[in-house]
Amino acid sequence: MYAYLDPAVRALLGTVRGTGRDAPASRQVFVNRNLRMDKVEVVGFDMDYTLAIYQLLHLEEVAFEMTAARLVERRGWPERLRELRYLPDFVIRGLVVDKLTGNLFKMDRHNHVGRAYHGLTPVPRDERYRLYRDERVALSSPRFAWIDTLFALPEGSLFAQVIQMLETPGDPLDYEKLFIDIRESMDLIHADGTLKARVKADLPHFILRDPELGPALHKLRSSGKRLFLLTNSHLDYTEAVMHHVLDGVLPEYPSWRNFFDAVITGSAKPGFFSSQSPFVELDAAGAAVAGEVHSLERGHTYSGGNRSDLERLLGVGGDRVLYVGDHIYGDILRSKKSSQWRTCLVIEELEREIDWLDQHRAALEEVAGLEDLRLRFDDEASGHRAALNSVERRIDRLPADDPSRPPLEAERQRMKRELDSLRAALRDANGRIQALQGEVEIGYNRYWGLTFKEGSENSRISEQIEDYACVYTSRASNFVFYSPMQYFRVLRQAMPHELSALRLAPWGEDHAAPAAGDRPSKATR
Ligand code: IMP
Ligand code: MG
Repeated sequence: MYAYLDPAVRALLGTVRGTGRDAPASRQVFVNRNLRMDKVEVVGFDMDYTLAIYQLLHLEEVAFEMTAARLVERRGWPERLRELRYLPDFVIRGLVVDKLTGNLFKMDRHNHVGRAYHGLTPVPRDERYRLYRDERVALSSPRFAWIDTLFALPEGSLFAQVIQMLETPGDPLDYEKLFIDIRESMDLIHADGTLKARVKADLPHFILRDPELGPALHKLRSSGKRLFLLTNSHLDYTEAVMHHVLDGVLPEYPSWRNFFDAVITGSAKPGFFSSQSPFVELDAAGAAVAGEVHSLERGHTYSGGNRSDLERLLGVGGDRVLYVGDHIYGDILRSKKSSQWRTCLVIEELEREIDWLDQHRAALEEVAGLEDLRLRFDDEASGHRAALNSVERRIDRLPADDPSRPPLEAERQRMKRELDSLRAALRDANGRIQALQGEVEIGYNRYWGLTFKEGSENSRISEQIEDYACVYTSRASNFVFYSPMQYFRVLRQAMPHELSALRLAPWGEDHAAPAAGDRPSKATR
């Protein structure tokens, strides 16, 4: 490969370390739109679930139990709800709560609902079709709530588990009230400090200290970029979390504040991106300092503010700013819609899903081979059916004692046998595809399958990631694997017509059999 290259140039390939190719697949940065890091002057970071990686299960369990307790104590729900325990796999990012029917469902990129549960019970297929296929699901309707942040997982789970526990046949709960009660209770445990007090009391239990985060930020800084922190969390919590995450990780940065040129807490995203709210300086105790903010000083903290003032105060804006966040709506979509900022979405779940797919590469390759084989069986079976049909019509038109009948009849029998064996092979391939896909999907999550796929389509959340994030990755610290001057270049996209031109080569004598050919189907063995 690359035989045309000058040998001296060829020898240069691979001499540089830290190109991202050295990183494990689950830690790479993936590109939806070209991003040239040498053009980026300022990099902003969200805190929760971006710089601070929560130990998923731990935070969710506590949020779930606290919210269940609130439902009992303040909203009049039965005491029994205190017995509920969080089901770790039952809710994944990207699900939708249907407040009208009490269902939870997962959609593909065309908004087709592929799986749905009522309580913890799967919604039967015909019911699912009736509810969600006859009418297109309009996610913007108040009927639906989209679980697009990890903070919302326990809400979805509690919604389903309460229905499962309390509902009796013929006596449905008031789903809308249940959802509102859960939403408002969850909102309160965040806002009144109950949840944060628990996290602060045992930070290592709740938040990972990622050893690569400090070096990643340092790498960006040492190439001359300025960094800022922009979080909706307030100062005292930010201080505690950032202390845990970054203090003392690198000798050059004794305090987490040394990494950042500006620190903004209580930023009220997504409003931050379009509001006119002024910046307010805070003192160490978190109290407002009187007076207008004319500059953002290192080591100081600001609250509130808005995107256009931030750009003015930093002296840089538009596509020279890269913002790294985890909330597809609050961090990414809204900033994309109201600014030219470039965006990086952090998706913690990618790490596990990519590792899982890597472990099941052989099965996935077999599925791809079988899908190719299935297309060929389809073609052959359709052709055979047409030919058989025409022979049958010829026979029908002949008088009963016509001498050409017996040979035609024999041909009909032969064609029918062939068609039957093609159909059997097709069924076999379908069965095998289903079994392999089931193994990969259900092994990953027995309720919902893969987060980023729904059947053979991308899931709705994947579609949103593609639409709104310039690049995406499993952790903010993954920038450590790349040059701060990296050109994140998009891979060539392929439409179905391009793929089929590549895959459906003519079926000739010298054609290498697809992977599935190694495993002849029962019917052709
Ligand atoms: P960020 O991701 O750093 O901008 O911060 C997210 C903040 O939003 C954290 O302080 C969370 O506690 C808070 N948060 C998350 N979900 C809710 C909610 O439902 N109501 C109120 N605050 C929330
Ligand atoms: Mg966040």
